[in-house]
Amino acid sequence: MDSLTPAGFFGALTEVSTRLADLKAGSVGVGVVSLYAQPDAALYRLPLEHMRRFERAMEREIRARLRAQDSLFAIDGKEWLIVLPNLSSAAVLTLAMLKFEQAFNEAPLEIDGIMLHMRVVCGAAISPEHGKDAFHLLQSARIAGLVAGRGDTGSQIYNPAMEQISPSLASLERDLRAAFAGGRELELHLQPKVHVPSGECRSAEALLRWRNSAGQWVPPPVVVSLIDRLGLRHRFNRWLFQCAAQILHGLRMEGLEVDVSINISATDLYDVEVPELIGQALATWSVAPERLCLEITETSMIDDGPGDSVSAVLGRLRALGLSLSIDDFGTGFSGMSRLKRLAVQEVKIDRSFVIDLLSSSRDREIAASIIDLSHRLGVEVTAEGVEDEQTAALLAEMECDYIQGFLYSKALPLADFVAWVRARTGVGLAAANMLEG
Ligand code: C2E
Ligand code: CA
Ligand code: CA
Repeated sequence: MDSLTPAGFFGALTEVSTRLADLKAGSVGVGVVSLYAQPDAALYRLPLEHMRRFERAMEREIRARLRAQDSLFAIDGKEWLIVLPNLSSAAVLTLAMLKFEQAFNEAPLEIDGIMLHMRVVCGAAISPEHGKDAFHLLQSARIAGLVAGRGDTGSQIYNPAMEQISPSLASLERDLRAAFAGGRELELHLQPKVHVPSGECRSAEALLRWRNSAGQWVPPPVVVSLIDRLGLRHRFNRWLFQCAAQILHGLRMEGLEVDVSINISATDLYDVEVPELIGQALATWSVAPERLCLEITETSMIDDGPGDSVSAVLGRLRALGLSLSIDDFGTGFSGMSRLKRLAVQEVKIDRSFVIDLLSSSRDREIAASIIDLSHRLGVEVTAEGVEDEQTAALLAEMECDYIQGFLYSKALPLADFVAWVRARTGVGLAAANMLEG
């Protein structure tokens, strides 16, 4: 397994934060590039194994064009964030983006004899001009990437005007608003979670899928930040809760006892209307609240000041009967002491600790202590991003309760998910025996 790339948005966030702290001590600028691959439609029809090879090939090619001090973070298989410290000028960023574009856009990428033509789109941002903190800097790079992706001008460095007048953002906004109005293009796909002792699929995570009017998939974190920037959060939540409740209703109609988790954002925790909207959606579809789980990232729970408003909203969500889960656990700094106080039902070990579980004793220790302490508190543990049998077997040995990842399936549209669960029923015991054996 390629263990070179640290995973995820939060890894990049931490790295940029560290670099920004250095910057205060008097060194030079930090740049961030968001690189987004738009392969032709052929990729989406390839089996998962090929998708993974595609991602690794992309990583290799990007890495070959980095300086020793740069770091690369894979966001989701189609988006990469590159942190470039010690910039002497913006020209270095422009040059880097040019190299990436040329590398991919001029010749197809070959994966097992399949030629993938694609377009690589880069957006960049520089500190401190384009973001006062790491989070805003990364967002600015992604906004520049969105603008670059919609036009034909090639890579872009962020400028604030992009947010006001950019025709690209405006057209994405139109697409998004239309999606809310018609409710067609926005979808929730379900990724199965497998209960380790029984091998059964008892729950699934609902993940946002959206194609813009040009038919391109937009990565969910980008959609979510766009929704925030456009002030559409409230409408999105309304749609999300209704859609999740409708899916739960659909699963019940199919005779399947499967719970569904949705992801809610940090800002939702400060929105007093959220519990009410969820309650309404569940009532509309006559769904029992216990069936719905809310995944909340660990980092969004950190700013729990003396006013304790996060705890207050969590309390009201719990009072509705919903279950709560801490997502991306291990990436924040809250540690186990808060776990008890937050009274959640589930903890999800972040993919960044799962990727190198077989090779890194440090990651094994982190995972083992998360599992052990969670169990002591009566909290169940899901490991996410599990891609291979050996890692699954190791997690089973560590008594992890649920496993989620490409090993079993990527997120599927409802009908495909139902078919997947049906096909799996009956093989549960065999899988469980295999893990024990
Ligand atoms: P997350 O909540 O950590 O979701 C898990 C992500 O990991 C998903 O990416 C999923 O497709 C991916 N994943 C699962 N198993 C594997 C694996 O074995 N290997 C690899 N490489 N990846 C795996 P996705 O769907 O692109 O979502 C990315 C993030 O976007 C999510 O991270 C979540 O933070 C956010 N997101 C997705 N849907 C929503 C939503 O409805 N609302 C909000 N607020 N955020 C969402
Ligand atoms: Ca999640
Ligand atoms: Ca997660």
